[in-house]
Amino acid sequence: MSDEEPTVPIVCTDCETETRVPLSNVADALSRHNEGKHGGEEIAEVDPGLKDQLASLVAEDMGLFDDESTADS
Ligand SMILES: [Zn+2]
Repeated sequence: MSDEEPTVPIVCTDCETETRVPLSNVADALSRHNEGKHGGEEIAEVDPGLKDQLASLVAEDMGLFDDESTADS
């Protein structure tokens, strides 16, 4: 299949595990792991090497770079 969803590596330094999950499942997988294994602490995270790239992609996607933050009262 050519249009398979890209996967993202999630690493947990505490469990010493690395898991690949579909991009759209990342947030879900992280919160499930952290809630299930670490009482809600955010220990598992996206592979730091990818995180920066991903963060900018997601930030762009969410429009965080909009310059509408100049609204003053
Ligand atoms: Zn863990």
